[in-house]
This record gives sequence, structure tokens and C-alpha cells, in this order.
Amino acid sequence: MKVHVKFCYCCGKPCKGSLCENCLSLLPRVGAGGCRICSRPLWGLEGLCWSCRDLDVVLTKIQAPFYYAGLAKILMQQYKFRRGWGLTQFLVQELQSYLEPGYTLVPIPPKKQNLSKRGWDPVKHLWYHLKGGKNPGRILFEPVEAGEQKLYGRAKRKTMTSMENKAFLEIPTKIILLDDTITTGATLNSYARLLLEKGAQEVRGLAITLAP
Ligand SMILES: [Zn+2]
Ligand SMILES: [Zn+2]
Repeated sequence: MKVHVKFCYCCGKPCKGSLCENCLSLLPRVGAGGCRICSRPLWGLEGLCWSCRDLDVVLTKIQAPFYYAGLAKILMQQYKFRRGWGLTQFLVQELQSYLEPGYTLVPIPPKKQNLSKRGWDPVKHLWYHLKGGKNPGRILFEPVEAGEQKLYGRAKRKTMTSMENKAFLEIPTKIILLDDTITTGATLNSYARLLLEKGAQEVRGLAITLAP
């Protein structure tokens, strides 16, 4: 009988799954409590953290299982840049608990530049598998030109154009926007604002990692 040996995506040691027990225990998890939107520590503030205050946040939740720090940075590198498809099952398991009935999962579009450089879209890949890998539904947004995402005005025009090309699409009432890493949340927040203007009633953000 042939025994398949797997290796930990973070430390490279042989292990049973895609990550060894030790690396799993070292991943920096986002705790409960803290900011009512993103769960980051409040450092003496009440309700909203500095980051969410700065953002003028319209997202009702910003969620991620891990902080983008320590071993989680290696995990993201392995997944995004080295096509760590063996991590898919682990990531799907981690993200599944944030999904709720009645909410439509919508992947954030990649920058066109990244898509052609990497040859794949790590967010769409995750979205597809989170939807069970079958008939995942239509996508609301097309890939965007690099640089345009940062400027709210231009990003809005761009994404509106790509949405209007898909005028047949109805905007879901409750949406969870999916990204790989949330840094400031500004990109997600601007997509949320656009979707709210277009008739959505609630928009949340979800990613694998959140900048601490
Ligand atoms: Zn390991
Ligand atoms: Zn916050």
C-alpha cells in the first residue's frame, strides 16, 4: 500500500493535513469581543476601533479567522503566490462558520494586472469552493484595472460599469463580500457603499486574514 505523505504548508514538516498541529496552534486568531464591526482590540475606545472610525464604515461586520501576522503571512503567501490549492479545504473550513443563510457571498474582483501575473484568482477559487464547487452562481464584478481600485470615485465608476454590463443581475439584499486579506477595509467598504446605493440592505466583509 502506498502511503501519501503530506507536508505542512507553513513549516514543511511531514504531517497529516495541510498544516501541522504546531503551526495550527501558532496561527494568530482574531478573538471575540473588541470592536463591534471588526473585533480588533479597542484600546480604551468604546464600540468602534480607530480603523473603523477612520473608514466611516458602512459594512456591518468585518470578519476573518486570522490576523495578517506571523505564520498567517506565510499561509497567505503559500496560498496566493504559490498556488497552495492543498490549503483550499482548510480555508473553506475556517471560513464556513462566518456564512449565514440568507446572505449571498460575492467575491471581490482581482486587479487585472494580478490576474494576468498570477494566472488565477485566489478569491474566486475560495468563493467557488465555499459555494460547494457546483453552480456557484453569477459574479457581480469584473476584474478591475490596477490602480483604479484605490480611488473611490474611479473605482466606483469602473465597478458600476462592470455591474451595468450585467444589468440582468439583481442585487442581493444581504451580501457577504469575500476577499483574501483585509488591510484597511477601504476597498471592501467602497464596494459595500456601491451595493447599498444599488439596493442591498446589509453588506458584511469576510477574508482569510485581517491586518492587526
Ligand atoms: Zn507546520
Ligand atoms: Zn473595527
